[in-house]
Amino acid sequence: MDVIFAEATPSGRGGVSIIRVSGRHACEVVRGLTTDLPPARRAGLRDVFDGDTLLDRALVIWFEDGRSFTGEQVVELHLHGAPVIVRRVLALLKENGARAAEAGEFTRRAFLNGRMDLSEVEGLADLLEAETEAQRKLALQMANGELGRKVAQWREGLIRAGALIEVSVDFADEEVPEDIPSEVFSILENLRQEIDIQISGYGAAERLRRGFEVAVIGPPNAGKSSLINKIARRDVALVSEVAGTTRDIIELRIDLKGLAVTLLDTAGLRDADDVVEGMGVARARARAEAADLRLHLSVDGTKDADLWRDGDLIVRSKSDLAESDGLTVSSVTGSGIEVILDVMHQRLSRRVSDAGLISHERQLASLSDAYDALLYIRDQPAEILAERVRRTASSLDRLLGRIGAEEYLDVIFSSFCIGK
Ligand code: GDP
Repeated sequence: MDVIFAEATPSGRGGVSIIRVSGRHACEVVRGLTTDLPPARRAGLRDVFDGDTLLDRALVIWFEDGRSFTGEQVVELHLHGAPVIVRRVLALLKENGARAAEAGEFTRRAFLNGRMDLSEVEGLADLLEAETEAQRKLALQMANGELGRKVAQWREGLIRAGALIEVSVDFADEEVPEDIPSEVFSILENLRQEIDIQISGYGAAERLRRGFEVAVIGPPNAGKSSLINKIARRDVALVSEVAGTTRDIIELRIDLKGLAVTLLDTAGLRDADDVVEGMGVARARARAEAADLRLHLSVDGTKDADLWRDGDLIVRSKSDLAESDGLTVSSVTGSGIEVILDVMHQRLSRRVSDAGLISHERQLASLSDAYDALLYIRDQPAEILAERVRRTASSLDRLLGRIGAEEYLDVIFSSFCIGK
């Protein structure tokens, strides 16, 4: 495989810029720039040359193949973070026969070399994109191979069940009546239950990963945009005294005490005479309906009966103008905002308390196949059981990308940045 290189740190000026080089002859390529390399896995300060000219002094560290992130020989050059140095070193690496890596190519090699399974790759992609604490935690456990470890346990059970079934088939050949040990059923039924727990926890985990949507709805002039602006502490939505100016849905992504939440500022939900506004209303209603939570905002505490769902919030706005009870807010004084955010957080976190490990549709599909293969196994003959065990095992292989990963790779790696 080609030797590839990329800047591992963001490009631009900084304290240190790291360039990573990976491939079978990565050390040889880098040796052209330095006098020698330190022993493997030991950092050493080395002069970096551009021909006879000293270019920089860098911390150099390399990893043998089989013991690196990509599974190949990897060299890291920790250069001074000046674009002029980085540019020159990248050019020299190219002159020495290496080529610039594509987005996600280091991770792709790690996957192809068996250093990571596909769920770990997905976890890593999520980790690099994590914006909130909950997203970081979920992504890290996936990137750390939690799912792979669970699957390894499940496979042990499958192997045992498979062996027990095999033995009963061997006896059957000798014309002893087929007798499947009850242990086979208890292993497979247990496994089905464990898979079921993960499938049930998918919805919540998926929400944690992608974030929640909370729609702020209410009549025109209720103060929706003002509230969202106040929450954002900057102007994201147009605030105006003319009814119906917020024609489209304005989204504001916030970190709600660790949860990723998109606040939707819906157009004044009312019957509009104007066609353009009417379209905006229809769109807004559809989005509000699909949101995870609706905050019904109005001066008098009315709710939108059509859009009301259990768990929604009723909030009275403009509390600076009149006293009222329940949840109240003033976008002028800011009073009540913290309480509303607290209640929103509480409602949303209740929904993710049962979040499982899997949070990607691809993972759900493989696990659902495994689950289906384990349905209705009681009283099945040995051949059918053996087939079910094989089907379950191959669904689990698919889950970890040991088979059938090709169609997903390009999609997953295209979300990576260059240098990862
Ligand atoms: P929307 O149509 O629901 O988005 O309402 P806006 O946020 O555009 O607000 C409508 C009008 O009410 C504007 O003139 C705001 O300045 C005013 N307003 C909004 N929130 C408050 C508030 O908490 N107190 C007072 N006194 N006025 C408010």
